[in-house]
Amino acid sequence: MDLSYSAEEERFRHELRAWLQANHPGPEPEDMQEYVAYSKAWARKLHAAGWAGISWPKEYGGRGASLIQQIIYQEETARAKVPVPMNLAGITMAGPVLIARGTEEQKQRYLKNILTSDEVWCQGFSEPNAGSDLAALKTRAEVHGDDFVVNGQKVWTSWARYADWCMLLVRTDPEAAKHKGITFLLVDMKTPGITVRPLKQINGDDDFSEVFFEDVRVPRTNVVGAVNGGWDIAITCLMHERQTLTFNRQLQSSIALAEMLETAKRLRIHGGPVTQHPVLRQKLASAYIDSHAMRYTAYRNLTKALRGEVPGPEGSIEKLFWSEMYQRQLETAVDMEGPHCQLLEGSAHAIDEGKWPYLMLYSRGRTIAAGSSEIQRNIIAERVLGLPRTK
Ligand SMILES: Cc1cc2nc3c(=O)[nH]c(=O)nc-3n(C[C@H](O)[C@H](O)[C@H](O)COP(=O)(O)OP(=O)(O)OC[C@H]3O[C@@H](n4cnc5c(N)ncnc54)[C@H](O)[C@@H]3O)c2cc1C
Repeated sequence: MDLSYSAEEERFRHELRAWLQANHPGPEPEDMQEYVAYSKAWARKLHAAGWAGISWPKEYGGRGASLIQQIIYQEETARAKVPVPMNLAGITMAGPVLIARGTEEQKQRYLKNILTSDEVWCQGFSEPNAGSDLAALKTRAEVHGDDFVVNGQKVWTSWARYADWCMLLVRTDPEAAKHKGITFLLVDMKTPGITVRPLKQINGDDDFSEVFFEDVRVPRTNVVGAVNGGWDIAITCLMHERQTLTFNRQLQSSIALAEMLETAKRLRIHGGPVTQHPVLRQKLASAYIDSHAMRYTAYRNLTKALRGEVPGPEGSIEKLFWSEMYQRQLETAVDMEGPHCQLLEGSAHAIDEGKWPYLMLYSRGRTIAAGSSEIQRNIIAERVLGLPRTK
């Protein structure tokens, strides 16, 4: 590992830090409609100042930052606690996929509006019977003249309610082998025949939806890559999703840990300080050790990427360790605060406005999204330990 930064990288950090300090958009509004407006305004501000699409090439409106600069960007935005862009699917998946595999016309049409969040994107991949086994997807698209006509259902589509466009995986050749008959379509979410039904989550949010397609007409020009060649495009998209998440994860957990330690210092349990409780102090120490192990694993993977080595199955080790560690960490925070932490804002006995149980409940999804823990363990078993493949 080489953890030192060049003078130019330090200059980049200082410029960014100063800009974030001067332009922080303030706290996120609670109301969803207000949050959407706030998030779009923040995206436009980032774009106007040249801080949007940090990894995107300059010719498409991005910053063209090096890998190290991208890491500095993630560190500084996390440190400044600025909001995560609502159009994450657009910036981290749709944009990079279009840059890599889209036609020049598609690039001109979509890229700028992704950066400014004037058009928000969602990812329509998962279906009720196609999640871990994504290639089992059944949503059909048949050619009728210049259009595809789409029928079927997607589920767990994050931000579908607020999305203008969807990256949709459809089956265009039901006779072909599972991975061969799939096409990647760009679908305008305002097209007649699309119904978005929000799903209530365990933490009270409803940012997922079921999306139903009934005779939805999509122009044939909205295919990315080749008809029946969508599996390759989907893999490009998922690689971008996983790559982007990697470094951010350890930052997220180390920020939560720092806040937890501050919380522990001011709380009392069973008549004594939390920091002297024999079980809780053990758990806090474990969380600290986990967080450092995670940090150095992320740096080791980064060093590998900087040397131009192809990412290997260690990405699965990192994802698995992080998602389970983050859940343990948040469970400790909830244990520290005791039953009162479940009381929400406005209650006379509420602690931290119900923040820790909210995060803890949200973290359950971390062991499912972007490859569940069982799938990660299968990858580690087969590709790291050399065990036989599952049937
Ligand atoms: C926070 C979050 C955001 C998401 N956002 C989106 C989105 O925007 N767009 C989208 O398309 N999808 C999204 N998803 C869906 C996500 O991709 C799927 O939930 C995930 O792929 C798992 O699929 P599934 O839910 O159908 O579970 P299944 O694949 O049915 O799995 C059910 C259980 O079986 C286990 N299992 C499955 N296969 C195996 C196997 N071979 N060996 C051992 N165990 C196995 C799994 O680990 C799991 O425990 C999101 C999910 C979450 C949690």
